[in-house]
Amino acid sequence: MKDLLRKILKTGRVAEDAPDRPEAASPDRTRALGGSVQVRHVDAGSCNGCEVEIASAFGPVYDAERYGARQVASPRHADALMVTGPVTRNMEMALRRTYEAVPEPKVVVAVGDCARNCGVFAEAYGVAGAVGDVVPVDVEVRGCPPEPEAIVAALRGLTGR
Ligand code: SF4
Repeated sequence: MKDLLRKILKTGRVAEDAPDRPEAASPDRTRALGGSVQVRHVDAGSCNGCEVEIASAFGPVYDAERYGARQVASPRHADALMVTGPVTRNMEMALRRTYEAVPEPKVVVAVGDCARNCGVFAEAYGVAGAVGDVVPVDVEVRGCPPEPEAIVAALRGLTGR
């Protein structure tokens, strides 16, 4: 136990230094969220690349939680949906229902180029459309996949921290 405590003290902080606060995505919504956002992630058909970056964004190095963003297991506990991938036909209804389950005021963040405009999967037979074709999108995060810094910046734009 002592060794472990010594190691923790010696290691110190591993998180990246906090960059400057980004501009709020929407000042009204940011005010309504009150400095924290509970996020439900929905993989609507991603290749999993975006999920790896989201995991990094919430990991110890980028540490999105220090800015008030937290992942939750149910859309009923969420303020925001973070959607990845193009929306496949099999996920279209599930995404609509998940969106309906999130209480107002709610925010949708489309993470990655596939979520924004179907990306490399555009016109694939199993794709129903981009996230914005199925539910209203408030914030987009560019990239294939987006870097964790960009995901954290988008979440900070919601929490205002
Ligand atoms: S944006 Fe790139 S990494 Fe993300 S789901 Fe699409 S292909 Fe995969």
